[in-house]
This record gives sequence, structure tokens and C-alpha cells, in this order.
Amino acid sequence: MQNYPAETIRKDFPILSRKINGKPLVYLDNGATTQTPIQVIKAMERVYLEINSNIHRGFHTLSNLCTEAFEEARKKIAAFIGASSEKEIIFTKGTTEAINLVAQSLGDTIINDGDEIIISAMEHHSNIVPWHLLQKKKNIILKVIPIHSDGSLNMDQFYSLLSAKTKLVAITHLSNVLGTINPVEEIIKASHKKNIPVLIDGAQAIQHLNVDVQKLDCDFYAFSGHKIYGPTGIGILYGKEKWLNQMQPYQGGGEMIQSVSYESTTFNDIPYKFEAGTPDYVAAIGLGAAIDYINNIGLDKIRIYETELYNYAFKKLSSLENITFYGKAKNRASLISFLLKDIHPFDAGTLLDKMGIAVRTGHHCAQPLMDLLGIPGTIRASFGLYNTKEEVDILIKGLIKVQQLFG
Ligand code: PMP
Repeated sequence: MQNYPAETIRKDFPILSRKINGKPLVYLDNGATTQTPIQVIKAMERVYLEINSNIHRGFHTLSNLCTEAFEEARKKIAAFIGASSEKEIIFTKGTTEAINLVAQSLGDTIINDGDEIIISAMEHHSNIVPWHLLQKKKNIILKVIPIHSDGSLNMDQFYSLLSAKTKLVAITHLSNVLGTINPVEEIIKASHKKNIPVLIDGAQAIQHLNVDVQKLDCDFYAFSGHKIYGPTGIGILYGKEKWLNQMQPYQGGGEMIQSVSYESTTFNDIPYKFEAGTPDYVAAIGLGAAIDYINNIGLDKIRIYETELYNYAFKKLSSLENITFYGKAKNRASLISFLLKDIHPFDAGTLLDKMGIAVRTGHHCAQPLMDLLGIPGTIRASFGLYNTKEEVDILIKGLIKVQQLFG
């Protein structure tokens, strides 16, 4: 913790110094969205003030400058996740759109009636509903890897679900409810032995773990800009070239084409084939600036700091009476889900908000998992690179107050 400049970092995030209900904001809802540093805001402001013009469309100076900045952002993202080429980086609206893209495009290309797709019991709705939509077009079967009581994946069950019928494994890297870090390397290796591609939902992992898509050897990796200190409205689908080249476009429109007649269309090369219409180039450039921001601090340093903070928070929370944790797998990070006995999570969340503390309460877009756990929802504290031990202490005091008032 000593070399980590948390206080300096916090100054980059103007929103962190505001008050909520008259109390200093304690922002512990980073799993839902992270705050945006001034450097990212400035990078986007610069686009509107200095270089705004539609990309890939004009030959005038502004269009060239904006296109360059947009493509520069794509290169930064490719380097950040270790992609072999920026052609493998598709800009989407976010993780949700990235997974829908794979479901529809890969669905049209390699998935047929009777095929099986494996997901896990801890998926966000974004990695469940796209497969239900595909089921409306094709008669596919969704297989679900169960979890152990500590919130880790039942890997024996995973191996027994893998079969000749499996066409894709789609799984979260880090659970947004349990904090479990899944053994994605093992899952990918085992799936590849049977020539099955793997899609990783990296929405909760990319901002905390060092992700190298070539080392992982995943076929697809999806994440959102707004969870990695970038803007909303932008996300990434990484896809191996060999898949993207085979896949049908997800949507049709401007710039994804090579030529169009009234009779037919030929498509542009990757990644443009999958970027129909004007992309949110301002947000893409903002995401590039967010990657710069993280690189300047260093993801390794962030990981060490966040792990210490996480362990501190878990220890402190464990000292509370009548607390039940959801997610105690050995390998976990970044967020802690819990309930206080007999207190509804919404009541706890509302009271904490009065004290300036922002946590997430509810089902966290993982209703099937809540049903499995037999609870309506949890209170979730999720941490980011700017949180501090002092904020954890404020949360603990807040929870004690909640217990006193409702106890
Ligand atoms: N997957 C996981 C694991 C998530 O936590 C989230 C966001 N809560 C998503 C997918 C969806 O992300 P977005 O809403 O940015 O598309």
C-alpha cells in the first residue's frame, strides 16, 4: 500500500469529492460502473472542441484526425489485452452487445439445431438472454455448469457436460455476484481439445486482472468501457481473426460494406464488417484514454493494492455479527456480496445512501443465481483503484448503524 498514490489518484476523479446527502461520497459500486478520471473526460472534450468529424468517411483534415485518434484507441486496446492484431478488436456498445454479436453471428455461422451451448450458474443476464434469443431461431440446448456452496465452479460437472454436441462455452471470468475468478485457462484448454470455441465475459475482470487473450487462448473476450474507468456506450469484443472472418455481420449499414447494389452487398474486412453505422468514436477515444490512465499507474500495482484492500474489507466485514457472505471461493476478487440477518438488502442500501455510501443492492442481473441461492438479492460492495481502507471503515460503521436501526 505504501507506494500506491491513492490520494493523488482520487484527485483525478472529481466526482469522488462531492457530497451525498450531506456526507462525503463513499463510492463502492464499481462493479456497476466505475468513475471517470479527468484525463478521460478531457480526451473526449478535446474531440468535440478540436477534431470532431465522422470517421472513415471524409478526406478532409478533421475527418482524418478523428479517424486517426479512433484507430489509435483500437491499437491501445489491442495492446492492453495482448491481441495479435487490432483487426481482432471490435467496438460495440458494451459487453452486452458484444455477447449478442457472438450469439447472433456465430449462431448463424456454426450453431445448428440440436447443438449445445455451455454457460455457468453464475452468469449475468447478458450471458443468458442472448442464448435464449438464439433459441427462438434455432433449437439449441443450454447446459449450465453448477457451482459448489463456496461459489466456485463445479469443474467435474463442466467436464461431464463437454460433449460432441457442444458448439460453444460462454462463461464469466469474474462473477459479478460472488466475486469468483473462474479457471478460464483450464476451461479453454479442455474445450479446445474438443475443438470447441470459448467466449469469456470479462465485464468484471478486465479492470482488475491482467488479461492476455493470446496467453488465455480464448476465442472471444467481451468487456465494457464504463467498468474500466472509460465512458459509457462503448465496449469491446475481441475475437480471433479465424472466427471473425467466418462470421456473418451482426448488423448492416454504413461502413461495414465493400460494395452495395440494389440486389446485394459485399462486406468490408474485419473489424469494420462488424461496426455498422457511425460508432461512438468519442467514447472509443475516451476508452483509449482510460487504458492510458491504467497503464500509467500499472495494472500490476493496481492488483496488489486492490487485493490488500479486498482482504482488509473482508476481514472487517467478517467481524460483524449476523452477516452471511455469498461467494467464498478461494480464488476471488474485487467485490463482496453479503446479507445482514433479517434485514432486506433494499432497506440496508437506502440507509447506507443516507450516510453517503453507495453500494449495490438487488439481484445484480443474475436472477437465476439468486433463485439458486434462495435469496432476493444481496448487498454488494465492489472496489476500484481509488477506494481506501478509510472508506471500508466508513462502510463498516454504516452497517453497524443499519443493524442498530433494524435489529
Ligand atoms: N457481464 C457481467 C459479469 C457484468 O457484471 C455486466 C454488468 N453488470 C455485464 C455483463 C453487462 O455489461 P454492460 O451492461 O456494460 O453491457
